[in-house]
Amino acid sequence: MTRLYLVPTPIGNLEDITLRAIRVLKEVDVILAEDTRTSGNLLRHLGISKPMTAFHLNNEHQTVERIADRLEGGETMALVTDAGTPGISDPGFMLVRECVRRGIEVECLPGPTAFVPALVNSGLPTERFIFEGFLPHKKGRQTKLKEIASYPYTTILYESPFRLVKTLQQLIEVMGPDRQVSVARELTKIHEENVRGTLQEVLDYFSQKEVKGEIVIIVEGGSIGNRP
Ligand code: SAM
Repeated sequence: MTRLYLVPTPIGNLEDITLRAIRVLKEVDVILAEDTRTSGNLLRHLGISKPMTAFHLNNEHQTVERIADRLEGGETMALVTDAGTPGISDPGFMLVRECVRRGIEVECLPGPTAFVPALVNSGLPTERFIFEGFLPHKKGRQTKLKEIASYPYTTILYESPFRLVKTLQQLIEVMGPDRQVSVARELTKIHEENVRGTLQEVLDYFSQKEVKGEIVIIVEGGSIGNRP
């Protein structure tokens, strides 16, 4: 039966691909890839040779209809992104929505994603959390920062290494320096580190060095006691 699989891929450590992910990638007719070069490297590592079609945010709108037509025509496909779970700060949502609209079966395999280990490692409450992904760079950034300051739940942000220090400074401006934070860097890779403390302590730590690698920020939720 025709189906779209969403297949999570490793966020660093190649051992994190699941046995089922490998089987599905071997069985589908076509692999939709955010970047065919990056996914090509992974597929070569896994010994899989499959036709690939580019599927990234720049052409997601245009290609959704065409891909859904092909699925309806009987092709089975797997969507992969450069790393982690498709649809999480990555392409996927619009294609899934279109498949759901047309009654095409969709199945997301469980697997690697950066925010879950970052959250669980943080030591901050995990029973409720808000995933914000990337902050807007310019328009709406201040409004979003203030909104985050008012959230009563642990908040998850994706961030680039070049903006980490600036973002920590801006979080202090809206929350004060004492909120707990955990910065997860290079999860599952050789230089993985989780830096925990108050916003001020973690800002001081990262201000003293060049920040490299991939970053998730986990911020403590506000309460009546720690809102500025
Ligand atoms: N779809 C991915 C997922 O499921 O997590 C996220 C893709 S998003 C384009 C890339 C961002 O995820 C990075 O900028 C970083 O914030 C986070 N990320 C990905 N891999 C990571 C890693 N190994 N360590 C820390 N953060 C990571």
